[in-house]
Amino acid sequence: MSAERINILKGANRVLVKIGSGVLTGHDGLDLDIIGHLVDEISEYSKKGFHFVIVSSGAIASGMHRMGFKEGLKNLPQKQAAAAIGQGRLMRVYSNAFGRHELVTAQILLTMSDLTDRQRFLNTRNTLLTLMEWGVVPIINENDTVSVDEIKFGDNDNLAAIMANIMEANLLINLTNTEGLYDRDPRGPGKARLISLVTEITDEMEAAASSEADTVGMGGMRSKVLAAGKVTASGVPCVIAHGKKAGILGDILSGRETGTLFVPMTQHLKSKKYWIAFTLRSRGKICIDKGAEDAIVNQGKSLLPSGIVRIEGDFQMGDSVTCVNEDGVSIAKGLVNYSSSEIDRIKGLKTSRIKQVLGDKPYDEIIHRDNMAVNK
Ligand code: GLU
Repeated sequence: MSAERINILKGANRVLVKIGSGVLTGHDGLDLDIIGHLVDEISEYSKKGFHFVIVSSGAIASGMHRMGFKEGLKNLPQKQAAAAIGQGRLMRVYSNAFGRHELVTAQILLTMSDLTDRQRFLNTRNTLLTLMEWGVVPIINENDTVSVDEIKFGDNDNLAAIMANIMEANLLINLTNTEGLYDRDPRGPGKARLISLVTEITDEMEAAASSEADTVGMGGMRSKVLAAGKVTASGVPCVIAHGKKAGILGDILSGRETGTLFVPMTQHLKSKKYWIAFTLRSRGKICIDKGAEDAIVNQGKSLLPSGIVRIEGDFQMGDSVTCVNEDGVSIAKGLVNYSSSEIDRIKGLKTSRIKQVLGDKPYDEIIHRDNMAVNK
């Protein structure tokens, strides 16, 4: 056991456990033994005062198995139909398994549009925190049956990263069907080495992580690395580990060397900025000059009209927009106080001229610093 690992993981008692389809399913549909073992461990720690939220895949896989489909499903309606069949079965298995420990479970199904709306985001948060206060184990999945491409999370790894922020987790455990992150694709040629500690996610790491998943999973390793990047940016450590290993949760929680540990960043994003940076979809771009870039990156300032060179996209007041520098590199993301057509009319001007041009000046800033997440 390394002292660094123990130091990072000690005190982790609000834990989001993400369980991938590849862990939950065997040749014969849902693997009740694996689910039973994970639930036993979660229950044991819950009784010691730990709080858990589970993000569980497996609805589509379970539905496919019930229908006797062996091949991967071809299109979205088929996946949605399989999820509708499998989700209830999945919850029944969890509910029975936790019931043996006298723990109650709750189902939460979400789509991206539930979380990009600030009001619905806050309602989801309140529900989740209430369930946790009651000692209930919330089990979350994407609401696959109603999701369309535009509102999909993309995969449950991303959903887990968002939910970890909402539940104020101090650890994300991402259980999958490999040992962790390797320095190259372990399914490819050459010997791949498991990386046990990641202090910074590099471009090479992201590139080496395959986006290919098996027939039942959606994300592959790449989306797990991206999710780890998101939670570590908010100061929360993340472990990617093999979910089929006996005693895996106990091993991780007691700091034993297993899987890949992503070290949290020390200067982390506050919850609202995290929501802006990672939950909201960017609706357009604002290209800023060198002066504005320096003011934002080095001086902690807001974005004013004077530093804006041009804009791209059609967006409304309150939308989330990416700020890019003159080389097109993304600098920050934030909520705009003016629409794209208004910004187009006041770009490059001094704040004092906003009223003259638009007839009104509700705000001095195009994006206020409090509503802006700056890239590192
Ligand atoms: N929501 C999907 C399911 O329950 C899985 C998505 C994923 O694995 O990322 O089957």
